[in-house]
Amino acid sequence: MFKLKNFLPKDVYKTVFDIDYNKLYEAGKRIILMDIDNTLVSYAESEPNERLLALFKRIQDIGFAIIFISNNHKKRVETFARATGARYIENAMKPFQRGYRRALKLVRPLGREAIISIGDQLITDVLGSNRAGIDVYLVKPLAVRTEKWYTRLNRKLENYALRKIKKRYPEVYRKFEVWDE
Ligand SMILES: [Mg+2]
Repeated sequence: MFKLKNFLPKDVYKTVFDIDYNKLYEAGKRIILMDIDNTLVSYAESEPNERLLALFKRIQDIGFAIIFISNNHKKRVETFARATGARYIENAMKPFQRGYRRALKLVRPLGREAIISIGDQLITDVLGSNRAGIDVYLVKPLAVRTEKWYTRLNRKLENYALRKIKKRYPEVYRKFEVWDE
């Protein structure tokens, strides 16, 4: 069933560098589920660049554990995560709950209230996280041009959801303005 509420991100940022991680920690969050493709790097890049590695270190130094959660295959996700020391979940099948259930198992005894998720897609990251009861932050996708056909299909659905959000939740829609800055 199409529940528009499940497509609403908690907040919208331009990039992962714009999020106030200290504030999230102060609010009791301890785990960050991070999407990889087009949230952190484009499909063309297999490893995190220096700027990302510095960000991950800063986040981990605050006290967070990062878990990469991706619908991509094991080799892709493992190669990306290797230099970070963070755990990962591959073939997560977002927006289905399989990957989120694995994440919840990994972080025990912490629960969903201690987790936030960051991603670039309404149809996978936002929908999946909301269904799992996890606060989700949306960033602008890095490189839409290199996306695979199924992701492009998702973008079409996403535009549909966005038009609905614009009508029913104009205050949420306004958060997307940071993407145009
Ligand atoms: Mg993505």
